[in-house]
Amino acid sequence: MYPNFPTDVEIREVGPRDGLQNEMVLPVDQRVALIDALSTTGLKTIEAASFVHPKAIPPMAGSAEVMAKIKRVEGVSYRALVPNEMGTDAALDAQVDEIEVVMSASATHNLKNIKMLPAESVQQIIALTKISHSQGTPVEAIVSTAFGCAYEGDIDPKLVASYARQLIDEAGVDSLSFGDTSGMATPRVVMELLEALGEQQIEPRDIALHFHNTRNTGLANIVVALQAGVRRFDSSIGGLGGCPYSPGATGNVPTEDVVHLIQDFGISTGIDLNRIIECGELAENLVGRQLPSQVLRAGPRSRIFAS
Ligand code: ZN
Repeated sequence: MYPNFPTDVEIREVGPRDGLQNEMVLPVDQRVALIDALSTTGLKTIEAASFVHPKAIPPMAGSAEVMAKIKRVEGVSYRALVPNEMGTDAALDAQVDEIEVVMSASATHNLKNIKMLPAESVQQIIALTKISHSQGTPVEAIVSTAFGCAYEGDIDPKLVASYARQLIDEAGVDSLSFGDTSGMATPRVVMELLEALGEQQIEPRDIALHFHNTRNTGLANIVVALQAGVRRFDSSIGGLGGCPYSPGATGNVPTEDVVHLIQDFGISTGIDLNRIIECGELAENLVGRQLPSQVLRAGPRSRIFAS
């Protein structure tokens, strides 16, 4: 259909972490129930926890208990975000399959969020990657505010790409993801970032993209990225989430809507859409409110022909 279209795409679920950390505090057992339900959908990657100080992000308290209680399904990678060495040790003790580390390309956002300059974050990621690799656990570095920042506005894509290059060369991270923390990505900005990454020999097939739907461009961003050959995308069940440090930034793109869109192109995701929709219903029950996913409301378009 398009020359660079991937034949298969990996959709990575972030609801139990990125989503829930911006919702009310849920009991550990409810977080476990959501992860266990998501584990049966065909998803291969679930962001299950965050090993941050419980006072900093109360909804992520008890992450070690969550990791201990989930029923791990073979072939599913359960990953966790860590902010520092203590968090890395705790996550490795909890036997996460992959560690996620984050830095912001926006100095202002990084200072507010992580209390470091971006250059200091690069050094920290080098140290945390070393610890994780010493135990054989892979690391993904996330460059957040990669498409713009609520405080700084435009972020130079060349700056984002140069941090990405450093994270590959100096930290030796196993994968890279770019986060639309403030919900400022548009198809134009996505194309500009992919071009800047290309100048650093970082190819679309080797990266993951993480979009929020703050300005209703989330799915359009995914389509242009697919056309460029990107094959890994994050999404959140029901559209749970946002970012507490970015004023006005609402939730991640909903998993139901992303799976529906990508499968409609004939691209394989390995995911059972009906089961994903059931998980969306569960997520709505757990947080007690209607979530933004529109496929959750309307159902998949194929259902119109089936009935
Ligand atoms: Zn997010």
